[in-house]
Amino acid sequence: MTSPTPVSVHRRSHLSPTLEVPTSGPLVDRLGRVHRDLRLSVTDRCDLRCVYCMPEDGMVFRPHSELLSLSELTRVAAVARRLGVRSVRLTGGEPLLRRGLARLVAALRALRFDDIAMTTNGMTLARHAQSLADAGLHRVNVSCDTLRPERFSRIRRRGDLGTVLRAMEAAERAGLSPLKVNVVLVAGRNDDEIIDFARFARATGRTVRFIEFMPLDHEEDWSESAVVPGARVLEEIGAVFPLRADQGRGSAPAERYSFADGSPGAIGIVRSVTEPFCGDCDRLRVTADGMVRNCLFSDDERSLAPALLGSDEDVALVLRQAVWAKRAAFGRDSAEPVMLRPRRSMSMIGG
Ligand code: SAM
Ligand code: SF4
Repeated sequence: MTSPTPVSVHRRSHLSPTLEVPTSGPLVDRLGRVHRDLRLSVTDRCDLRCVYCMPEDGMVFRPHSELLSLSELTRVAAVARRLGVRSVRLTGGEPLLRRGLARLVAALRALRFDDIAMTTNGMTLARHAQSLADAGLHRVNVSCDTLRPERFSRIRRRGDLGTVLRAMEAAERAGLSPLKVNVVLVAGRNDDEIIDFARFARATGRTVRFIEFMPLDHEEDWSESAVVPGARVLEEIGAVFPLRADQGRGSAPAERYSFADGSPGAIGIVRSVTEPFCGDCDRLRVTADGMVRNCLFSDDERSLAPALLGSDEDVALVLRQAVWAKRAAFGRDSAEPVMLRPRRSMSMIGG
């Protein structure tokens, strides 16, 4: 278990706990945070083995029979939609490994979400981009932590950079835009590429989002010294390409910056570790094996399985109870918020 990381947390001072799980109205927690964003993990499997996420060998996956079926995923999404959830993001593991994904997207489109997005490693995206766009997917975030071909296999252990870059182009051709590129910075591995990525954002018009490394790696190698603070990223880029902060982040995890000289492209900073945004969190997660999680860092998981045998009201109650049980920050209400490694790692939860 990793030692606690002290962090400062934005608390919303006007929030005060109320008492009972509401049975009507939007999905709200005891601190008044209304939940509008659903992260739906469709598989825990992956075709890569990124150092900050999975071990090279020995990862044990859930048998297919224990995953929510496409119709169960659709049903949970439909109930969440009725409870006021507006956006849904497909994730995993690698979501493109899930058979029938386009059918799921089409079902989500029929539910009229404002935003249907997917986070992917891009390995097979070029092949699927058009059919997913046709089915109703709006946009993708493609993970890519290096622009150096030889380094790609050291960070992601499988796959290759060219495939991911071609996937980004295919996604844009298919209309999956705006395209965002997720970069997890790990000190000593890829933090010498910050300016290269800024140039890439300017050249392609894409948003590059730098994500702080969180203690969610299966191998438990995370340490505070491996985290590259968002502040450093902003300082480095700003010294070469002055940045302008865009309007408020709202409930989104990334702060967004444009280039002051009007260049295309943008920079996003996700400071989950150094400046957490728990006070504005509106996210709810459903794991591929059907557990509702109210926080990446909370081990409080509630199974949807019994409710899925019952009515939609039963499913709604599990979602409401899970949200209601959400703690102030990182799954805790402690006076001094700490980020402690949860039992399940990132790919098992759904990033
Ligand atoms: N396989 C897909 C991918 O890599 O984009 C989707 C799932 S992945 C778990 C979702 C996101 O979480 C990716 O952008 C990935 O880089 C990020 N991620 C994984 N492990 C992380 C960690 N320990 N800290 C911060 N971000 C992490
Ligand atoms: Fe797979 Fe995504 Fe985890 Fe990398 S970050 S191992 S691509 S699930």
